[in-house]
Amino acid sequence: MSAIATVLLKPGKERSLARRHPWVYAGAVASVTGAPGNGALVAVRASDQRFLAWAAYSPGSSIRARCWSFAEADRINTHWLASRIEAAVARRRELQESTDAMRLVFGEADGLPGLIVDRYGDFLVVQVQAAGVDGHRELLLDALCRATACPNVFDRSDPALRAREGLGDSGGVLRGAAPPAQVPIRELDVRYRVDVRRGHKTGFYLDQRDNRRLAGELVRRWARRHGRAPRVLNCFCYTGGFSIAAACAGADAVLSIDSSADALELARGNAALNGLVAQGADAGAGPVPGASASARLDWRCADVFEQLRSLRAEGQRFDLIVLDPPKFATNQHQVERAARAYKDINLSALRLLEPGGVLMSFSCSGAIDTDLFQKIVAGAVIDAQVDCYLRARLAAGADHPTLMTHPEGEYLKGLLLERAA
Ligand code: SAH
Repeated sequence: MSAIATVLLKPGKERSLARRHPWVYAGAVASVTGAPGNGALVAVRASDQRFLAWAAYSPGSSIRARCWSFAEADRINTHWLASRIEAAVARRRELQESTDAMRLVFGEADGLPGLIVDRYGDFLVVQVQAAGVDGHRELLLDALCRATACPNVFDRSDPALRAREGLGDSGGVLRGAAPPAQVPIRELDVRYRVDVRRGHKTGFYLDQRDNRRLAGELVRRWARRHGRAPRVLNCFCYTGGFSIAAACAGADAVLSIDSSADALELARGNAALNGLVAQGADAGAGPVPGASASARLDWRCADVFEQLRSLRAEGQRFDLIVLDPPKFATNQHQVERAARAYKDINLSALRLLEPGGVLMSFSCSGAIDTDLFQKIVAGAVIDAQVDCYLRARLAAGADHPTLMTHPEGEYLKGLLLERAA
């Protein structure tokens, strides 16, 4: 083991690693011996030389090392890395019964810091965003293709995140065939097409799968309880995930708003794919031969903040509203401004909600934790002067697990509110 470099921490800086948190910040490092290269294996030691972890060294990053393992007996070799991939894939096996699209590797939560792998049908889409996993990319891909029997790998790494790690640009086909412009996937009985080349993240918001299903259940529950199908408003609809889940479950009318014309075009295609017919002046995709479902779908390319106000001015009301905005706070400095934006849209949405109606409100800002988000939404409830029950707290699905020792992984949080009748 003498060839392995050592990262020695400053006194007291071993605490977070002792609690199995997987990051070593630059400021915690006292000295580095052995001149490790970018991504090289290092032993992290406390100031008294006690072994703390095996880690990948990132000399250019503020996260100076990312831990592979806290067990000194582990050997971080091909076999060990492959076993991490196999364990991550095995952890999601049950999900395969209901969908062919899921996150297979979620970085730190799967013991592979900086690696994201999403599966869309026959295509694996990867983001390799830390020096450690970059250095082992080929063997990780070998293990992935073996564990999934999927030969096609496409790279959607974020160049900005790679640059922060001192890594050059990467992207495009890494293995097998190039993905088509739209990759078809299925979630339970709902079908979507995903643009893995240009779409957000790796193409689709896989993290909202359980909440899309819940939206469908809420539609059915509403219909049973009220003897009529609900009117649904989906704000920040992207490619129509929640809208189509709600329409397939029998919603009466679904109004979907997004500022991206490209996303809405895909959303219309997704509606047609499920036999849903767009109506009204905005019926971009036109009627589909053989389409049977009766939901009225309206796709609006507009700013949600403005639309919520004009819908109120028009006296519109909805029974189910989904608010799933983009990340308003990307760091601590933006929290205050983001809080105002979250409160604004929640207040506007509550004003459009029928008595007895349901609001699914999300935040994917890691910098805003669950407690703060709940306080912000509670502020909106108070200002709206309505009584609301908190029916459930919502989160990402099981393929985005949160490691108890790495709470930073829990970025998506949601509240299910029901307005008193
Ligand atoms: N709910 C979606 C994901 C939403 S991602 C799903 O489950 O798939 C956020 C979306 O908000 C993006 O599609 C982006 O185009 C849109 N967006 C961002 N700012 C907006 C604004 N001010 N008004 C309308 N849409 C906006």
